[in-house]
Amino acid sequence: MICEECGITIADTARFCRACGMPVLDALEQPLPPQEDALCAHCGQTLPAGARFCGKCGTAAPPAVYCFACGRRITPDSAFCSICGAKQTVSPGEEA
Ligand SMILES: [Zn+2]
Ligand SMILES: [Zn+2]
Ligand SMILES: [Zn+2]
Repeated sequence: MICEECGITIADTARFCRACGMPVLDALEQPLPPQEDALCAHCGQTLPAGARFCGKCGTAAPPAVYCFACGRRITPDSAFCSICGAKQTVSPGEEA
């Protein structure tokens, strides 16, 4: 869709224009897709938000990575957001 304020093309699922920050009114009417739970890569146990280790098997959980554009959780190694398609500029592992 097009930002009414500055006219750039933004993702249909975006709630704010990435250029000027204007809230996208159409999107505000739409509920966000449900947040995906993180799953343990080892046993498949659902991990609570912010968990660093699986409560069932103790496997270290991957750090949560969120799309800078839409704020949804994405897989740490994905180059593009699976929800809004924004290219992720922060590479995994850079987090201190
Ligand atoms: Zn704009
Ligand atoms: Zn586990
Ligand atoms: Zn996104």
